[in-house]
Amino acid sequence: MIDLHSHTNESDGTFTPAELIQEALATGLEALGVTDHDTLAGYDAAAPLAAAAGLDAVCGVEVSTKLAGRSVHLLGYFAARPPAPEFREWLNDMQVSRRERNVRMAAKLRSLGIDITLEEVEAKGRSLAGRPHFARVLVEKGYVGTTQEAFDRYLDSSAEGYVQRREPRFEEAVERIAAAGGISSVAHPIRLGRDAERQIGGMQAMGLRALEAYHSDHSPRHTAEFLEIARRYGLAITGGSDFHGGAKPNIRLGSGHNNNLAIPRWLLDHLRALA
Ligand code: AMP
Ligand code: FE
Ligand code: FE
Ligand code: ZN
Repeated sequence: MIDLHSHTNESDGTFTPAELIQEALATGLEALGVTDHDTLAGYDAAAPLAAAAGLDAVCGVEVSTKLAGRSVHLLGYFAARPPAPEFREWLNDMQVSRRERNVRMAAKLRSLGIDITLEEVEAKGRSLAGRPHFARVLVEKGYVGTTQEAFDRYLDSSAEGYVQRREPRFEEAVERIAAAGGISSVAHPIRLGRDAERQIGGMQAMGLRALEAYHSDHSPRHTAEFLEIARRYGLAITGGSDFHGGAKPNIRLGSGHNNNLAIPRWLLDHLRALA
């Protein structure tokens, strides 16, 4: 069993890199992709621990991109070689734009009468703080009961406290990943919505290499559909649970939601061969 999509507390997961590796070993995984949002810090910390324990850790990242006014999460895998240094610099630029957004979002929430500071939010995160970290502060201070309520009332793009962040264009992210020696894959394509196939066709024309057909949010029917779309457009296949630890308590590493995942090992061999 393998799992190519997981998060540590360097982004919005709750497990430290060491705890994530322990969990992967306890689960009996052969390979684990560490794919934090916009940072390689979780992978960097996990890789030597995994190597010492005989677990195959795959370097990855999940970048939030903009395409036709919508947000698309793009995975980048560096399964065959480490990412070029310019790619790390590009990710660092994203930390800068996140911080700038967080300053504005804390101010906006204060203007709505909420007692919240940037320091409190950043203390919840490590390499980066995002809206999930704002949500944790709002829950802890009793402004809302749950993370979902925090998003619905304050943080969702349609809510009062929302502040936009500069996000790279999808095309740029695809190019950056390719230039750094990686393979790009659209995360949880179920979120593309109705005309997913047409959108994926457009993405393939922009240089997309793979599709995350296996994901905890996909029913067997969705998975079959995305496998077929990948075949039609000549895209490779990736898959993972999108494990976030206690931040998404119903999702298990490797097996997903109620055992709805079984990701074949050959996907990873294929990614390595492609890269
Ligand atoms: P950010 O990168 O700071 O914009 O935060 C995005 C993250 O917030 C996503 O990866 C999700 O984990 C989470 N998120 C976004 N929208 C919602 C929502 N409506 N409800 C719950 N979580 C959300
Ligand atoms: Fe996340
Ligand atoms: Fe995602
Ligand atoms: Zn994810």
